Amino acid sequence: MEDLLVDGHGRRISDLRVSVTDRCNFRCQYCMPADGLPWLDRTAVLTFEEIERLVRIFASLGVTDLRLTGGEPLVRRDFPRLVGMLSRVEGLDDVSLTTNGYLLERDAAALVEAGINRVNVSIDSLQRDRFFQITRRDSLPQVLRGLDELAKHPEVHPIKVNAVAIRGFTEQEAIPFAEFARSTAFQVRFIEFMPLDADHAWSADQVLTGEELRQIIDAVHPIEELPREPSATARVFRFRDGTGEIGFINPVSEPFCSDCNRIRLTAEGKLRTCLFSIHETDLREPLRSGATDADIERVIRDAVWRKELKHNVGEPGFRQPPRSMSAIGG
Ligand code: SAM
Ligand code: SF4
Repeated sequence: MEDLLVDGHGRRISDLRVSVTDRCNFRCQYCMPADGLPWLDRTAVLTFEEIERLVRIFASLGVTDLRLTGGEPLVRRDFPRLVGMLSRVEGLDDVSLTTNGYLLERDAAALVEAGINRVNVSIDSLQRDRFFQITRRDSLPQVLRGLDELAKHPEVHPIKVNAVAIRGFTEQEAIPFAEFARSTAFQVRFIEFMPLDADHAWSADQVLTGEELRQIIDAVHPIEELPREPSATARVFRFRDGTGEIGFINPVSEPFCSDCNRIRLTAEGKLRTCLFSIHETDLREPLRSGATDADIERVIRDAVWRKELKHNVGEPGFRQPPRSMSAIGG
């Protein structure tokens, strides 16, 4: 047991999120500026072989769950090949993906073939004009086609649809999403808006809380909570009549830091021990300067030991990290 990755607060780290690119084909209001961000130079981004080596080291330290994200992971050239390489890493139980879905119609079959187990698709509105308003792309029909394409593959389970919850916008989406969750096999989850927007325009009053959304939905379609799984980020509810599930991820109003088991790796190889970390640990430099696996393991253990106790969002003195969500890997 003592070989496993633990932090200085006694939390066991078993979940790694890897950003495979900082680039994206959308420009969501809460994540990126309208003009995009200066992209990393291609040579700065970890190669597939470098990512595989790091994932192998993490897996040897007890990481069992790997999520691939970005930026938009599907814009990374040949991405399904990377999924194939990673799904063969010994020790991983689960390889999952978070995507905006735009390229899923093209890639769903290749991703399934490569071994992806679970997929989250981010959709903030089921209405085309409102989807455009948030993402600055008129792409809802394309994304829904991608979702349908993915749903043809029962090997991928569950498929979740994630919506960011923003006051003044998402109230109107609550019932349509509840009905979507009831009429399809997709689990819908709302995520509270967090201060990770590139424009640094976040304020606490823009967060529509999970509890507010729960009440809106419960008034029309009564729901009841299911038992929470350890280290789960979502509170999951089922509709009382037995059709469908809906979840709420409440990092702002109900932080779940105390049993957080997650760490992140950015596209250029920086290890982040919290979504809101101010400090990062560079793994690319040792990777590229001939470090052994044991050297890299030491750097990882040291960084993880110093994992932040909690995120302090909404508390006095909170500092928003300089990176936006797209540059971290959400
Ligand atoms: N491009 C992919 C996508 O959109 O699914 C993967 C990367 S994206 C950064 C990962 C998730 O972070 C998405 O579900 C997105 O909605 C969410 N996200 C981005 N900015 C956020 C913010 N400021 N607050 C809460 N969630 C955010
Ligand atoms: Fe791109 Fe995802 Fe950020 Fe939207 S949330 S801009 S799709 S990285």
